[in-house]
Amino acid sequence: MPRVSPLEVYRNLPGTNCGECGEGTCMAFASALIERRKSYEDCKPLVTEPKYAEKLEKLIELVTPPVKEVVVGTGERACVLGGEEVMYRHELTFFNPTAVFIDVSDDMGEEELVKRAKAVEEFGMERMGQVLRLQGVAIRAKSGDDARFGEAVLAVAESTSLPYMLCSTQPEMIEVGVEVAPERRPLIYAATSENVEEMGELGARYSLPVVASDASPQRLLEIVSRLRSAGVEDIVLDPGTAPPGRGLGRCLERMAALRRLAIERGQRLAGYPIMGTPMVAWLDEEDEVRAAVKECIIASAQLLRHADLLVLHSLEMFSLLPLLTLRQNIYTDPRVPIQVDAKLYEIGKPDEKSPVLLTTNFALTYYTVASDIEAGKVNCYLLVVDTEGLAVEPAMAGAKLTGSVVKEAIDTSGVAKKVRHRKLIIPGMAARISGEIEDVTGWKVIVGPVDSSRIPAFIQEKWSPNGDSGG
Ligand code: SF4
Repeated sequence: MPRVSPLEVYRNLPGTNCGECGEGTCMAFASALIERRKSYEDCKPLVTEPKYAEKLEKLIELVTPPVKEVVVGTGERACVLGGEEVMYRHELTFFNPTAVFIDVSDDMGEEELVKRAKAVEEFGMERMGQVLRLQGVAIRAKSGDDARFGEAVLAVAESTSLPYMLCSTQPEMIEVGVEVAPERRPLIYAATSENVEEMGELGARYSLPVVASDASPQRLLEIVSRLRSAGVEDIVLDPGTAPPGRGLGRCLERMAALRRLAIERGQRLAGYPIMGTPMVAWLDEEDEVRAAVKECIIASAQLLRHADLLVLHSLEMFSLLPLLTLRQNIYTDPRVPIQVDAKLYEIGKPDEKSPVLLTTNFALTYYTVASDIEAGKVNCYLLVVDTEGLAVEPAMAGAKLTGSVVKEAIDTSGVAKKVRHRKLIIPGMAARISGEIEDVTGWKVIVGPVDSSRIPAFIQEKWSPNGDSGG
């Protein structure tokens, strides 16, 4: 359930239903505000007319999420951390996917460093219609040399447009890194009990986000309080990360406790994004494959315990893929199934004799079926029906996949002009509506396999565009 109801929000709107915000009524605008499709600034009367000043103040307080949104970087690749409203995804949705940063260090040669930063920027893997990406670079000051750190920051800033974070506990080192390009809005890592005054001064002077770091929740919140007193507005919490068998469980508990404090108790000092450093897996593991796997395990566990930012070392697909897939699953809106466009897709090089297969527009169903057909090198048409993002069985149960729906898909897709036959292969799970589809569409329906991996063999054995064969 959302933290606030549309009615509570509505009470703090002008209530004139003027439509200036693009919504038909103030109540519709209230719902859009809660779902973050609109900002309170879109209600012009509210923000411009002095008589609504009190309502405006109350509204801002109501719609501001308990976890502050913190922006790192600028431009198209800037990433937003935090901004969450609920402990669990099913209570509403999570809004800003966990950012994944990859480390580089100033003891690398420039060529190697730039190559690694570019690899982070260019990393992309398409899954279910989305490109899974990495979000930024963590530049570690390992050399102990200010000038080398400055050069490393410059190399990253000039070679990529990605957000980056500056990693050192020495304020002088961080200042050198900040001064390279403060306008790129780097994240300062990290303020500790020892350096919080200097880091706070730097963060406030350049209006930059600062990480507060301590494994003790009490000391961590003290650092946050001191950063706020210094004038730092954007803070990220680092409650420490430990490898499995050396305190990972306690670290996950600290993360969950911080988020609970923010969301359930309204504790403002805890109301900031949380980060983890799964790259600690590399500290005592010499075998690179084992280290990368361990890092992926830590990162996945932290992602599930509310981490908004993760710093990793491995750029290997075998360790990133499970993590990014998990992130994609957690950060899709549970209220809206992931969908693909409902239309006619050509797979391979189909012609007028090629089979026409039918499936639904639930993304997971579509990509499974399409990839099975592609893998089997079948040239065909895939008619994707709009079932509002439901898979075959729930679509039939909810009357979203019916003879009439299939007829509309056939009529609007133009498939009848692409093939000379009138045969439609439907999923095995839709067998019970085969007669209905035949009656409504006039097409001969062939019931295909239940499992889409069997489609290529099914086509080879049974498909013929002529006569009654193939059914
Ligand atoms: S602009 Fe404001 S007052 Fe007008 S309809 Fe939208 S929410 Fe209501």
